[in-house]
Amino acid sequence: MKRDKSNQLYEEAQCIVPCGVNSPVRAFRSVGASPFYVQRAKGAYLFDVDGNKYLDYVASWGAIILGHADDGLIEAVKDALSDGTSFGACHPYEVELARMLIDAFPSMELVRLVNSGTEATMSAVRLARGATGRQGIIKFRGCYHGHVDSLLVKAGSGLATFGVPDSAGIPEELARLTYVGEFNHLDTVERIVKEHPDIACCIVEPVMGNMGVILPQKGFLEGLRHICDAHGIILIFDEVITGFRVAYGGAQALYGVTPDMTCLGKIMGGGFPIAAFGGKREIMEKIAPLGPVYQAGTLAGNPIAVRAGIYTLRTLKEKNPYPLLSRKVEQLTGEILDRARAFAIPYRINAITGMFTGFFCTADVTDYDSAVSSDRNLYTLFFQAMLDEGIFFAPSPFEASFLTLSHDEMEFETTLGAYERTFRSMKDRL
Ligand code: PLP
Repeated sequence: MKRDKSNQLYEEAQCIVPCGVNSPVRAFRSVGASPFYVQRAKGAYLFDVDGNKYLDYVASWGAIILGHADDGLIEAVKDALSDGTSFGACHPYEVELARMLIDAFPSMELVRLVNSGTEATMSAVRLARGATGRQGIIKFRGCYHGHVDSLLVKAGSGLATFGVPDSAGIPEELARLTYVGEFNHLDTVERIVKEHPDIACCIVEPVMGNMGVILPQKGFLEGLRHICDAHGIILIFDEVITGFRVAYGGAQALYGVTPDMTCLGKIMGGGFPIAAFGGKREIMEKIAPLGPVYQAGTLAGNPIAVRAGIYTLRTLKEKNPYPLLSRKVEQLTGEILDRARAFAIPYRINAITGMFTGFFCTADVTDYDSAVSSDRNLYTLFFQAMLDEGIFFAPSPFEASFLTLSHDEMEFETTLGAYERTFRSMKDRL
């Protein structure tokens, strides 16, 4: 596959942008490759500047669910554009979107719109600290909640391949207030709360997406709820990935565990930069101008992103694609595993509605340690071979792959053919 124009653009970009990219994983460094440059996207596909076509399982890191450039969404956005791009003032659509979010996530009595998942988690943590008057927070090793100082401690996603455990530039005094538990190991949380009475909140991806997909084991989320209740700790579900992905009402609807606060992003903007945080009235009323915790945003509730969000959520609500997405993931991953067995490739898949991760390992992946024990060199071979087949998976072994409503029989046939050839070629390199 020729990528001359992409390579040329990458060289130019590296002279003027750090490593040529606006977000680290886009550099493809951890899989020993260089990025392609997207010209346009449609349905389940990306098209690069060299005319190559890629079947896309990254889906803008889970933000796209209807498929790229969905006709109805484009119309909704065009309509919105002709009314103006930003008002810096209230408008009816933000009320409509807030209502839709609260209907989908009844645990949120009040919700506020922001521009990114990072802003949502940052604001939620500040609010939790302000509401409780406590300073400590609990997060889980491998969970990623955006590049918030307090949360860039033992984070997964791009950081899991970054070479150093955490980011530089974070004051030790702040990092010391972040206590790290192990996902699916309640005893680690119990130990933290026993030793540190000053915990304001516990933030978790209820289904981990940032060490690859890792499902909560039976009783884990319920146990967190119980511990938080017992110690007056605010439980925050970061549903930036899982919201409107694993179910319309997110993981909290699927698993029947109710958090005190919820963070949303990605899908709720249909590919536009928008996110939200919300929760119990008594907590949310602590935020400015009602309360003492400050939070604001020039472009928060931006009308274009809001109307894209409304269109996306309305479509998802009407179509209820979740049972179908669930069956599709099950069928696809089942067939992938058949091929892995046929070529004796050590491979495990974790999957849930609309997302899955294949790990090159022999044991089940249930937590951080089992995820990092998977073979990264094999993933590199896999990534490169699949990209040459025209299939785009995340350029890191610790990410989720996402389906859109445009991923259908034809796409699965193409995918499975590519898996078969890729596994065959990998077999001799084991
Ligand atoms: N929370 C989770 C679970 C995420 O996966 C991400 C990003 O991938 C974020 C928060 C941060 O969102 P954003 O990249 O929009 O700032």
